[in-house]
Amino acid sequence: MIIAGVAALAIGQGQALRLEVPDEPGLETVAVAWEGRSIPFANDSAGWFTFVGVDLDASPGVYSAELTWTYRDGRVRRSGKRIEVAERQFRTTHLEVAPKYVELSADNEARTARERSEINEIYARITPEALWTEPFAVPIPGTTGGRNFGHRRVFNDQPRAPHSGADLTAATGTEIRATNRGRVVLAKELFFSGNAVFVDHGLGIYSVYLHLSEIRVEPGEIIDKGQVLGLAGATGRVTGPHLHWGVRAQGARVDPFSLLLE
Ligand SMILES: [Zn+2]
Repeated sequence: MIIAGVAALAIGQGQALRLEVPDEPGLETVAVAWEGRSIPFANDSAGWFTFVGVDLDASPGVYSAELTWTYRDGRVRRSGKRIEVAERQFRTTHLEVAPKYVELSADNEARTARERSEINEIYARITPEALWTEPFAVPIPGTTGGRNFGHRRVFNDQPRAPHSGADLTAATGTEIRATNRGRVVLAKELFFSGNAVFVDHGLGIYSVYLHLSEIRVEPGEIIDKGQVLGLAGATGRVTGPHLHWGVRAQGARVDPFSLLLE
């Protein structure tokens, strides 16, 4: 969405919003201040673009975003935009999983705390360039499912965090492909997520692929859009084989399908 000249933008909870501004002679950088962070824009032949994320639990209401254009001659221009965040209704899902994933042992409690802080450190980093050049794509071409983002979840009768991704139907062994080009920043087994791959696409956008039976990439590796990064499986806290595909935009939990709507 080109936002120059647009006073107000609307978005739902748990969605990523693509922002675009035209290129101008002498323009060096563009950034948007959003939710206390400065998010850079990247540029390509069509102009400047970025995504901002609205967390699925963000309060509905009117938010402000300030854009800053910085020119090579030192000039700076600013413009504020209103972004209206609309409330969305999310279903509640009841799931039965192995008891060790609901009543955690002391060891597993400590392990999940360590893993959570490692993951939060990853999401806090905003790589100031876009590593991708093509639109984002579903990691399993032609698959079904994936409409359970944001569902409120009750595991073995106990409420837990809402579902932060999209579960795609996949038999064990199904090839899982990178949603877009990026750098692998984590590729290992995690307690809840099982075998997991995290990819940094730049501009604060991360995609994650969980519950894999096999991992085929290494941390630090640049992978292409569509490259096989692992195979689907049923590792970690699951009720059966599938791919959990998640996207974070500057830490906000967003529906991965909202990245596809360009
Ligand atoms: Zn899931």
